[in-house]
Amino acid sequence: MTAGTRAVDPRTGAAVKAADRAHVFHSWSAQSLIDPLPVAGAEGAYFWDYDGNRYLDFSSQLVNTNIGHQHPKVVAAIQEQAARLCTVAPGFAVDVRSEAARLIAERTPGDLDKVFFTNGGAEAVEHAVRMARVHTGRAKVLSAYRSYHGATAAAIHLTGDPRRWASDTGAASVVHFWGPYAYRSAFHSRSEEEECERALRHLEDVIVFEGPQTVAAVLLETVVGTAGILVPPAGYLAGVREICDRYGVVFILDEVMAGFGRTGRWFAADHWDVVPDLLTFAKGVNSGYVPLGGVAISGAIASTFDHVPYPGGLTYSGHPLACASAVATLTAMAEEGVVENAASVGERVLGPGLRALAERHPSVGEVRGLGVFWAVELVVDRETREPLVPYGATGSATAPMAEFAAACRKRGLWPFVHMNRTHVVPPCTVTAEEAAEGLAVLDEALSVVDAHCRPR
Ligand code: PLP
Repeated sequence: MTAGTRAVDPRTGAAVKAADRAHVFHSWSAQSLIDPLPVAGAEGAYFWDYDGNRYLDFSSQLVNTNIGHQHPKVVAAIQEQAARLCTVAPGFAVDVRSEAARLIAERTPGDLDKVFFTNGGAEAVEHAVRMARVHTGRAKVLSAYRSYHGATAAAIHLTGDPRRWASDTGAASVVHFWGPYAYRSAFHSRSEEEECERALRHLEDVIVFEGPQTVAAVLLETVVGTAGILVPPAGYLAGVREICDRYGVVFILDEVMAGFGRTGRWFAADHWDVVPDLLTFAKGVNSGYVPLGGVAISGAIASTFDHVPYPGGLTYSGHPLACASAVATLTAMAEEGVVENAASVGERVLGPGLRALAERHPSVGEVRGLGVFWAVELVVDRETREPLVPYGATGSATAPMAEFAAACRKRGLWPFVHMNRTHVVPPCTVTAEEAAEGLAVLDEALSVVDAHCRPR
């Protein structure tokens, strides 16, 4: 069924909703305060409900449907694999697993040529950290305050943003530091260069004061995702690489959100020619059609486990259905120029369009991003940069952002909203026309939140 011929069926929608409310326990939510939309179908950059409402997906769900919804080649590959071999244990060699690993290794930077498959991003982070700890014989891992790395035990401790607080036992050998963020500098910098230099000095100080011989790894999102779409200043990642080398610390880049085309390159690291020791991925590797994540491993770390067993595994590591969908996704992305499309839509439509919105709307403090990975940061006052809703706020304090999201949805746009920001993160396949359609809705929705700005 295409978006044009979707059926309107409110009774089924109501039944789906009723069963959900009775039996499904949702992530991150106070269960009685949520109102999940029953989704009837999806195609490309759109999805729709049972009441005849269609939404342009400016969230790519959870920033994972890089190839859009229901790509026919990926759907067919899953169907063919299901008919041929649904599942087989990770100890066997399987054609689609070998091919997925080869295609990933072909794209990852430097010598990250071995792949350990997981079921998603958090597990990828767990395993990268375990590899770094065994490889170095050290325990501590450093990560940024403005970060999200997943919700399993180590990953949630490594996460910097408030999603960590309720689960933080303070006992995970994790130390947080400040990464660069010129708009809200932790270092009182006045320029990107100063921010870069001070952020690097701060990171080195943290390593020195923690005791370098206790530090296994520095973990960073190449471009910080849900915690703000923070594009690092030129020289920062190369500087982190140098510091890690100086102290024998493993450098892990988390590309779970930024990888596989999101920034207009296969990996965000490609923008700065930086090669980490370990790279975590998930989401865009197969657009989430079947759960899949993994760690790409450098030669040096892989060789640690040549004769010593790696102390970890998963029943579904390299699941054939997931790997078949990754092979089809990566092949279709290359054939259809999906990464190039993300770069071009970012440069030609989203970047200029969002900057124009920033000029028109007093509620926009800053826009920043790359490819199809943009943040619009909303403020009540451009001079003081006071956020539209306070950092970490919950409940009624988030009302202005809820109002913004409702204004978008009413006009047929599904936005990604986090704290005082909307992230403009459509699929990498979004067309220039669809991007422009979304920008026009954002323009109207921003007029609604402009009313919250403090008069000057
Ligand atoms: N790392 C980053 C950068 C992410 O954005 C996410 C999820 O949003 C994760 C890790 C966790 O991935 P998952 O939800 O698949 O466990």
